[in-house]
This record gives sequence, C-alpha cells and structure tokens, in this order.
Amino acid sequence: MKSYQEWQALKNTLTLPNQAYINGQFCPAISGATFDCINPADESLLAQVASCDQADVDTAVKQAKTTFASGIWSTMAPGKRKQILQKWADLIAQHSDELALIDTLDMGKSISEMVSIDVPDSIDCLRWSAECIDKLYGEIAPTNSDNLALISREPLGVVAIITPWNYPLMMVMWKIAPALAAGNSVILKPSEKSPLSALRIAELATQAGLPDGVFNVLPGFGHTTGKALALHHDVGTLAFTGSSRVAGLLMQYAGQSNMKRVWLEAGGKSPCLVFADCKDIKAAAEGAARAIFTNQGEVCIACSRLYVESSIQQEFLAALLAASKQFVPGDPLDPATTMGPLVDKAQLDRVSNFIESALQQGAKLEMGGLPEYHQGQGFYVQPTIFSNANHQMTFVQEEIFGPVLAMMTFDSEEEAINLANDSKYGLGAALWTQDLSRAHRVSRKLEAGMVWVNTWGDGDTTVPFGGVKASGNGRDKSWHALEKYTELKNTWIRL
Ligand code: NAD
Repeated sequence: MKSYQEWQALKNTLTLPNQAYINGQFCPAISGATFDCINPADESLLAQVASCDQADVDTAVKQAKTTFASGIWSTMAPGKRKQILQKWADLIAQHSDELALIDTLDMGKSISEMVSIDVPDSIDCLRWSAECIDKLYGEIAPTNSDNLALISREPLGVVAIITPWNYPLMMVMWKIAPALAAGNSVILKPSEKSPLSALRIAELATQAGLPDGVFNVLPGFGHTTGKALALHHDVGTLAFTGSSRVAGLLMQYAGQSNMKRVWLEAGGKSPCLVFADCKDIKAAAEGAARAIFTNQGEVCIACSRLYVESSIQQEFLAALLAASKQFVPGDPLDPATTMGPLVDKAQLDRVSNFIESALQQGAKLEMGGLPEYHQGQGFYVQPTIFSNANHQMTFVQEEIFGPVLAMMTFDSEEEAINLANDSKYGLGAALWTQDLSRAHRVSRKLEAGMVWVNTWGDGDTTVPFGGVKASGNGRDKSWHALEKYTELKNTWIRL
C-alpha cells in the first residue's frame, strides 16, 4: 500500500478521462455540454465531463446494434472472448492504483478500501465471468426418438447498464463482465457522480482487444441519458443498480417502449438481529458497527436497523459505542482513514435531514449527530447512533444511505423476525446467535435476498447478490448473473 504522500504524488500525475466512449474512441457529447465532477473531500473541481443526451444515446445504440449484428463479438468463439476479457483483467490489474485513486477522488471512499476491496473484487468478477463463458453447454431435451430438441443460450443483443456511485468500479464490473462475456454489446451509463473509472476501463478494454462498439460508455444524467436508454426501442435489456424510486421508473419506461427485460438491484434498509445467545458481545458489536459505518454508510446492504435482545441491551450499547470509535472521518487519500466524506452536498443534506427527523421524533442520540459543514472542506458526517427508536420514525423506515444507525430492542425470536420483515425493502439481513437451530430458523423466515450469520457483508463472485421486495428482482455475480444476460432458445427438429 502506498503512503499518503505517494497517493498525493500519483494524484498530481493523473490524467482523467472526460469524454464519452463510443465505438472504441473518446468523443465529446454531440451538444458539447459538460457537467462538473467534484472531489467530495475538498470540493475542488476534478474534471468537466461530457454530458450525453438523446442524440448520443441514438448514436451509441446504433453503433452497438450494428456491432452486435456483425458478429465480431457475439459469434466469436467463447474461448477467444475469454482470452480478450482475461487480457483486459490483466490491464486493469496493472492500473489498479490509478483506478483506486480515480474512484477515491471521484466519490470519497477511503483509498484503503479501494485497494483492498473494490479493485480486487472487480478484477475477480471479470476473470470469473470470462472463465465461465467457454464452459456454458447447451442441452438436449428428453423428447421421443422421432425428434431432436436443442436448448441453447444466446446473447441478448444491446444491453444498457445504469449504475450508482457508491462502489463505482465494482457496481459497473458486476454487470458489464457477465453481459460482455455472454457476447452482448453494452452501453453503460455510470452515475453522474462517479463516471471516471468506467471511462478509463473502457480505454483499457480496447487495448485488450475488445472490438470497437462492443463496450460504450455514456456519462450523463439520469433524466437525460438514463431515461433515453431506458425508453430506446433497440435496447433489448436494461440492467440497473440504484434507488428503488428510479427502479420503479425504469419498469414504467420498459412498459412504455419495447417491454425490454429489466433487471433491478435497488435500495435497502437491512436489519441486524443480535440475540442474547450470541455469546461474544464484543464481536457482534464490532460486526454491527462495520455493517453501518463501512463506506460512510453508503452501502446498499448497510444494516441501518439494529435489533438487540432486551436482556443484553445495556452491555451491547456500550460495546457498540466502543467499536464505533474506530470509524473516524478523514482524508480518504490517507491509508489510515476509516471513513471518507459523503459523495456530495445533496447527500450531506439528505443525511442531515434524517438526523434532524430522528431528533424531532424522539430517538435518543448516543453518538455523532448533525454535521458541522464548512464550505470547501468536504462533506463529512460523524458516525451517528440513536437508541430508543421505533418503527413509526421516518429514519427507521426510509433508506438514509449514510452513517446513521437506529437501535431498537426485542423480547422474543418471533418479535425480532416480525420487526426485521416490517420494511418495504428486502436486500440483506444479519443475525448473531450461537444457536445453530435458531440461525437456520430465523434465516429461513427473513425476507431478504442475502442473510449473514455471525458476520455481515461477506461474499465473493461465486454467490449471487440481490434482493426481494422493493430491493429489486435481479442478481449480480455468480452463474445466476451470467444467465440474466443470455436468452434461452429451443430448436425442435423432426427427424
Ligand atoms: P439513483 O437511483 O439516484 O441513481 C442510479 C443511477 O440511475 C444513476 O446512474 C442515475 O443517473 C440513474 N438515473 C436517475 N434517474 C434516472 C431516470 N429517470 N432514468 C434512468 N436513469 C436514471 O441511485 P444512487 O443515488 O446513484 O445510488 C444509491 C442507491 O443505489 C441506493 O438506493 C442504494 O441502496 C442503491 N444500490 C443498490 C445496490 C444493490 O445491489 N441492490 C448496490 C449499490 C447501490
């Protein structure tokens, strides 16, 4: 790991990409418009980036469609596609410090997390998807002997991908890796709050030998670039990660246009249940603190609702406050920093409003509180913990997407499950217990796409990531993600 001084020196040599990437080259938006990318740690201007709109979307979709039809990628032997994607992964690995730095500057997460989590996870996902693709066999159906029925998987065509800013590189890679491996042509719209690493890896893809027009990146806003992609008749599939509000809009756009397939990874308000039989209260408290304060709480699976069995409430709160002290907001370029700034002023205001509402509605502030914002000094919020919360409070029901925790209590397993499930979301859930039967019983009843027992957030490329209810309908990672980007075809032959 580089030192603080070395990261600063690298920053001074960095050239940031700032144009759209279409058909293997950088180009300005047709309108010439740009938007500002701001470093949330000091509010300095990082880059002015091409702001794409309908005209750029039309150009990119036309190009992607032509490229797909040409077969240059879609019918390339899977083993050859694998080689190109593996070479791309090699190049990303060679530029891993640069990519880590770009995302830290762009959205404020700590450089140590970028280096230890985001970049290696992204490379792993790309390699895993590449390795899968020449192991994907078709099927022969067990029909009667007068017929032969083949079931094959084919790429879908033009896939549009829209991503958020909280894990810029990783959220992009979880979608583009399986979509490209499957042979599709991809148009990516990264978040307007963190578009830079996506543009850089597009350039590296061309260097690795990905044919022009297969992977295109259109920076821009949701209501312009994103909406135009979602309404486009030549986009066959739309894969999205972001808020549940926008996820709902995308389903409407699909219905209004060509009924494109829509895969949604949306918001969350994940519960963490701590039972008195967890035995190691310190470990559970450290887990609960990590589950809310990692990445400044800007994590879709953040356990922002904490339920503790009443009998250990006091002991647990003391351990939680002690564990939370290790999360100290600071310059994200310093490898020792455990929490960076929030992504922008809008997010700072949003989080502040939820803290204000918790105070007004009677929750008890145990740590942190309203941020003291000074213009030009970054969007920092202290880790904030409330006790005495309940389900009538706004900050217990709504996704905050910041470092704010609501602590509540329960008296029975049944009550804990009911409280955990009393949410419109269903992304992740964590529970702490040493009782094996209880661990299985509760896991089964939790309405969530992912359950962690005696841990939080763990996983690798081999397991699917996604939720139920308003948290979405899709899955990233694993074989299940790859399936989303292929179409099943059945060919029936009379012999
Ligand atoms: P967001 O919904 O505001 O934006 C996500 C993307 O959608 C951005 O690229 C944005 O430009 C685009 N967009 C916005 N309006 C659009 C429109 N009308 N049409 C088309 N595109 C539009 O979300 P965000 O603030 O970028 O990210 C935070 C959210 O993402 C949180 O709710 C978080 O829980 C969620 N998230 C979910 C997962 C998951 O896997 N389930 C992972 C990470 C983040």
